[in-house]
Amino acid sequence: MHDNGIVNVYLARDLLEAEFLRNVLDVHGIETRIFGANSIQSGMLPNEEAAPCLWVRRRDEEHARELLAEWEMVQARRQAGDVRSESMWNCSNCGEMVEDIFDMCWKCQTPRNTSPPGAESCPTDL
Ligand SMILES: [Zn+2]
Repeated sequence: MHDNGIVNVYLARDLLEAEFLRNVLDVHGIETRIFGANSIQSGMLPNEEAAPCLWVRRRDEEHARELLAEWEMVQARRQAGDVRSESMWNCSNCGEMVEDIFDMCWKCQTPRNTSPPGAESCPTDL
């Protein structure tokens, strides 16, 4: 067993992104550790030093990189204003449109499908 072999797969912009991505990877059964964020505790380091890195086990590296590549693509599309609503779901908590490949809102981290299946049958008066 080489469980101790972990690799750095991602440099996050901030701790929020790092924690979101850790959740995403966790959903896919990939154990993720965040390093770098702890250096904030020392208080004196510049922001570059505090940028959190995602580390996964070597055997999860390939899968993790695939998921992170998807995330990068989503980010790039958002910046380009190319949001494909047909492959997205609507966050029941904050109303954000979230890409189909993610099972939780990237904005508020609410899991998908938090409302019961029958909720839509509630009649609207028109
Ligand atoms: Zn949300």
